[in-house]
Amino acid sequence: MQPFQCTTIVSNPFQQNTFVAHLEGRVDCVVVDPGLEPDKIIKFLNEKNLEPTALLITHGHSDHIGGNHALKARWPACPIIVSSGDAEKLTDPQKNLSGQYGLAVTSPPADQIVVEGDELDVAGFTLEVLEMPGHSPGHVVFVWKGASPMVVFGGDVLFAGSIGRCDFEDGNFEHLAEAIHTKLFTLPDDTLILPGHGPNTTVGDEKRANPFVGRPAGYQE
Ligand SMILES: [Zn+2]
Repeated sequence: MQPFQCTTIVSNPFQQNTFVAHLEGRVDCVVVDPGLEPDKIIKFLNEKNLEPTALLITHGHSDHIGGNHALKARWPACPIIVSSGDAEKLTDPQKNLSGQYGLAVTSPPADQIVVEGDELDVAGFTLEVLEMPGHSPGHVVFVWKGASPMVVFGGDVLFAGSIGRCDFEDGNFEHLAEAIHTKLFTLPDDTLILPGHGPNTTVGDEKRANPFVGRPAGYQE
């Protein structure tokens, strides 16, 4: 496997994780979920001389898209890639939940729509798209199966010891639990989950100890 580097940039006020990933020796990179403090992300990219070739959006909540305008302004050719189910949240502050906080966050519209099973070839990565509804109906994760261990850019689905909130108007715990059980817990135990909030975890750790969807909640393989 080609060595890769992944840097986490945390945006306030929601402590949301933006990931910048690139293969060593290349200048092109992906940026996953540009957050509400894009100046930090742009500063990092400039310092490292990295050129984003895809803005990958796991879901359309404002804390995961708040940096899109700034990154598109700096790198206009870089496409915003999101699922059809969450694309409308990019441009609608009510739907992306920022209206409730009085922030009215929007993003430029989607440049590319993805669906379950799509394979994205970006910056040297081949990423598979999996639809994971429950926290948001159009939530997707991006799985890099060519890595060892595999890597999941996971958004707000599965956290270390927790799961994404399901109490939004369009949330659904059953959908989230089923998606985790059928699509994430079927990946190898050492698969690295890079979540949208908090520390990294692995499939095996969450199967064993997650109180919402793991063995403590009755999960059996
Ligand atoms: Zn969210």
